[in-house]
Amino acid sequence: MNPTTEKNKRKTFGIISHPDAGKTTLTEKFLLFGGAVQTAGTVKRNRGARTALSDFMEIEKQRGISVSTSVMGFTYKGCQINILDTPGHKDFAEDTYRTLTAVDSVILVIDCVKGVEEQTEKLMKVCRLRSIPVIIFVNKFDREGRNPFELLEEIEQRLDITTCPMTWPIGIGSTFKGVYHLYNSSLNIYSASKTKKADDYIEIKDLNDPKLPKLIGESLANSLRDEVELVSNEFEKFDEPLYQAGYLAPLFFGSAINNFGIQELLDTFISVAPSPQARETLTRTVSPNEEPFTGFIFKIHANLDPRHRDRIAFCRICSGKFKRNTFYYHTRREKRLKFSSPTTFMASEKTVVEEAWPGDVVGLYDAGNFKIGDTLTEGENLQFKGIPSFSPEIFKELENMDPLKTKQLDKGIEQLADEGLAQVFTFTLGRQRIVGVVGELQFEVIKFRLLQEYGASCTFRAREFSSASWLSMEDDDALKQFSASHRHNIAHDKENRLVFLANSAWDLQQAKSKFPTLKFYETSEYR
Ligand code: GDP
Repeated sequence: MNPTTEKNKRKTFGIISHPDAGKTTLTEKFLLFGGAVQTAGTVKRNRGARTALSDFMEIEKQRGISVSTSVMGFTYKGCQINILDTPGHKDFAEDTYRTLTAVDSVILVIDCVKGVEEQTEKLMKVCRLRSIPVIIFVNKFDREGRNPFELLEEIEQRLDITTCPMTWPIGIGSTFKGVYHLYNSSLNIYSASKTKKADDYIEIKDLNDPKLPKLIGESLANSLRDEVELVSNEFEKFDEPLYQAGYLAPLFFGSAINNFGIQELLDTFISVAPSPQARETLTRTVSPNEEPFTGFIFKIHANLDPRHRDRIAFCRICSGKFKRNTFYYHTRREKRLKFSSPTTFMASEKTVVEEAWPGDVVGLYDAGNFKIGDTLTEGENLQFKGIPSFSPEIFKELENMDPLKTKQLDKGIEQLADEGLAQVFTFTLGRQRIVGVVGELQFEVIKFRLLQEYGASCTFRAREFSSASWLSMEDDDALKQFSASHRHNIAHDKENRLVFLANSAWDLQQAKSKFPTLKFYETSEYR
């Protein structure tokens, strides 16, 4: 076995959607296809009604929101597929953005009744920024949804991507009869089934075949013929390089809950989705075919087992072979670490692995060594790029409610920041700490976890900041002047980088025009 052959077998992708579009259901059906689970209901439901595999944290169950990103692997037709699930809830969007740094492609699920929703737009923006290849699944065709042409128009306009329908629906809701595979010229007739894996395909090479009206009725046969002609005139043909470059999104219709349209999606996915790709570091590009192991941490998950204070750092392997009980070099800390029980997540099971390959994600038990973005190598001093922190949207001041637990609070907030749950800015003047997040709910999660895991109680006091900008250090004089005149808005992030917390968009604009030689960055990754 070598990295190249192993890499070629692997597909690592993220599954994203606005909440409720059917992401969990689709994941579950994929696992059924791969034989990784036997029954439906094994994958966590966001409602929290059942216990399920990515239901790691107590708080998830309580709130019924998927706070964490979980990893699930399965094999299908000789391919090792790694799914990185992401929280759909907007308050945890940063977690999703970071997970997108660890995937090679994405499947986006859209509800045919609701069309493009708020989170769909935001997530696609991140995919486009990174040129991630996207396949779209338009779900819930068993419901009275919108006209497929209308949906495609909305998707193309609002998501700013060219779509390429691979299947076409026959009817919708109560008249939904199946999908026509535009490239295989085969018809798949719908029968509502929650257990059946595959459906029978009927080959219809010519849409004028007299079998067609017998199968789906005269009127649907007529509309299918018209629609297929329209589709071939109006939409791009599938083009693999364009898909791989992130310009063209192959699109499928179906109903995840009824197992419909999934096989078409999965078969296309394994034939076109990219295998693990090369990745940039600050100094050079790392090819997945290289022999030495490299990887980076994109997520840290605390308290898998609420009785222990374990943390799991999720490492995406970029090159070489990762081996258990082998010393690897932690480039930020400049120290060697070995891992006695690296874990992979195969559907409902966690297992200790002996080795893992490019594209795989291993969970490393961690006693506080890792931060998001850390790089592991066999000794080379590398730092993978591409895991930025975005400016938070809500800022509050952290107030300690129990002076006897100050140390616990300090440690707790530092560790939660390392996990990426929040960003913490410390004022140069006065030492107050400002916690910045994307959604209100994160404050509740932080409060809950600080109390439960560290015994520290705190409250949050609203502060009127509207954005954080990272400042460049090149013009020392200007920086000094700026800092002196904006004392109440200058803080450090946890890496000790200088940050300007603007009170309003107008203030930021003013600052930029008064100090033209200073650079204000919207993300922390400006190195
Ligand atoms: P998520 O929030 O994106 O993970 O969505 P879920 O997979 O939990 O699905 C949300 C709801 O939509 C659940 O009640 C599902 O049973 C339902 N659902 C999922 N797929 C379909 C489908 O194809 N048709 C219909 N009618 N409902 C579906």
